[in-house]
Amino acid sequence: MKTTKKLMTLIMVIAMLAMIFSGCGSSSEPAAEEPAADVPTYHCITEASFPPFDTTDEDGNIVGFDMDLMNAIAEDQGFKVDYTDMVFDSLIPSVESHQYDIITAGMNAEDPERQKHVSFSDTYYDSALMVVVKEDSTVTSVDDLTTDMIVASQVGTTGADMCNSLADEKKIKSATIIDAFSDCMLQLKNGDVQAVIIDKPVAQAYINKIEGFKMVGEPMNAEAYGFAVAKDNTELLEKINAGLKNMMENGTYDKLLEKWFN
Ligand code: GLN
Repeated sequence: MKTTKKLMTLIMVIAMLAMIFSGCGSSSEPAAEEPAADVPTYHCITEASFPPFDTTDEDGNIVGFDMDLMNAIAEDQGFKVDYTDMVFDSLIPSVESHQYDIITAGMNAEDPERQKHVSFSDTYYDSALMVVVKEDSTVTSVDDLTTDMIVASQVGTTGADMCNSLADEKKIKSATIIDAFSDCMLQLKNGDVQAVIIDKPVAQAYINKIEGFKMVGEPMNAEAYGFAVAKDNTELLEKINAGLKNMMENGTYDKLLEKWFN
């Protein structure tokens, strides 16, 4: 009889201990967070030799005004983004073929040829092409370029179009079209080319950082940058436009201008 009693007591103690310890983890800790509903990730592409819009940091991460603005739009509109770097002239085919989702590359949205292949968001930055020469050059504008001069710009860009037009019109010796803006400037520094045609904000950022160059003459065109998506991706385009509008209205856009341009 005594043994049975002892056994019953032991069982009750074990049961009580089990209740106490099993209850420890349930009430005090918050319920595990519900997994967030599926948040889509859109894959962005850029050409990361175009600072301050698109460049890389010391760890090789793709950063810039375009990335910060798209990141803010994504957060505002409930999606995630990642970035891949590639040569500029592969950007439009990559989005047109749905290999990637968004072009974030300081791309002129007001180009009718481009508009045949992708849809652009509302524009977010007004720009223009400028001629860049070495500090000691006698060139004071595009009109001073001569038929013994070679002019460089970046493949697939409006600057490349401008260079090729000047060559076609026999106003320069030839156009050198290169993958990266930084390499255009290297060829200018080495004397392989006598001028570079590139976007004014990018030229200005470069000249602010690296001595020995100057912008000359008047803006050669007028551009307005937009983000681009495949033509049938209207839902994503609407999200980008809505987010962009919100960022412009809530001051985020101005803060990013301050961060990247001053
Ligand atoms: N704004 C120019 C264009 O749209 C250059 C863009 C760039 O080099 N990232 O072609």
